[in-house]
Amino acid sequence: MFKALVLDQVEGKTVAAIKTLDVSDLPEEDVLVDVKYSSINFKDGLAITGTGKIVSQFPMVPGIDLVGTVAESKSDAYKAGDQVVLTGWSVGERFWGGLSQKACLKSEWLVPLPSGMSPEVSMSIGTAGLTAMLCVMALEEGGVTPDKGPVVVSGAAGGVGSVAVAILAKLGYEVAAITGRAETEPYLRGLGATTILTREEMSEKARPLERQRWAGGIDTVGDMMLARILAEADYNATVAACGLAGGFKLPTTVMPFILRNVRLQGVDSVMCPVERRIKAWNRLQTDLPATALGEISQVIGLDDVPEYAAKIVNGQIQGRTIVDVNK
Ligand code: NAP
Repeated sequence: MFKALVLDQVEGKTVAAIKTLDVSDLPEEDVLVDVKYSSINFKDGLAITGTGKIVSQFPMVPGIDLVGTVAESKSDAYKAGDQVVLTGWSVGERFWGGLSQKACLKSEWLVPLPSGMSPEVSMSIGTAGLTAMLCVMALEEGGVTPDKGPVVVSGAAGGVGSVAVAILAKLGYEVAAITGRAETEPYLRGLGATTILTREEMSEKARPLERQRWAGGIDTVGDMMLARILAEADYNATVAACGLAGGFKLPTTVMPFILRNVRLQGVDSVMCPVERRIKAWNRLQTDLPATALGEISQVIGLDDVPEYAAKIVNGQIQGRTIVDVNK
């Protein structure tokens, strides 16, 4: 028997409760994992609070990230005792996820825990950190190098934003962080941001083209903020868009694209091919300073998850929240 957070629908509302389950309750897949840690991403917050249509069927064990040890395997790719990480693939949305002491998973969803990386560090990274790394790789592929000028990061005190700021600073970029929480300024400067901009100023309606300020951008917010970043992007800039914390609309014009050669690169971590995931995880091992992770992360227990899910949806979480499912 083991514990899991289970979501059910009661009178049209999502209800989250810790339940005791048996291995026979788990879906039948080829790898059984003893979960060590999961984490809370914005998407987990939406799923657990029932905000937005994230979960496609109930009952559901949420948790889009997990790290743990293989207990049993019918796959040649993994054997009992291997340490594995899972992010994305609609786990915690369509398939039972990581906010559980055990999970039964498809072997092709897993990646080996990078050698030398602790399970706790891997969940400090999680989907948010992987996405941040994929965004940085998108900027590099767009030709944005540290000598080109500053890079702007929105939703900077959140999970994706915090990791993006830390990686960019480590790689030598000048980083401008946009936050709606003035009190996070020391935290963001500690991660390596040299300029702090307010959410308010960066959400003001932009003209089709504004003064050029950014060699690159990583946007987790969408809507007016992404429109402003695009309008302020330098000639040949690349902007990586991965989130919608402020809304899914994009009220922009074609001007930044046709007059300034700006590239808007979408970034998805959920269905990201395995080879690119492994590349990103290995880059995280070298390009994300270990000291930054201590600043970024806090650890909670399974019982605390509903409270923290509500907080992340309300924009009250700083950095990354790791869940010790055995605490
Ligand atoms: P998070 O920890 O909650 O961070 C989001 C941050 O956005 C908040 O900390 C806040 O930063 C800012 N924010 C919140 N509400 C806002 C609003 N109404 N207007 C403007 N800014 C607002 O979430 P996360 O896990 O980092 O995820 C960030 C976004 O990326 C989410 O939309 C998530 O769904 C998306 N995401 C996408 C992928 C992908 O594969 N494409 C993967 C992971 C996440 P400040 O307090 O600093 O302002």
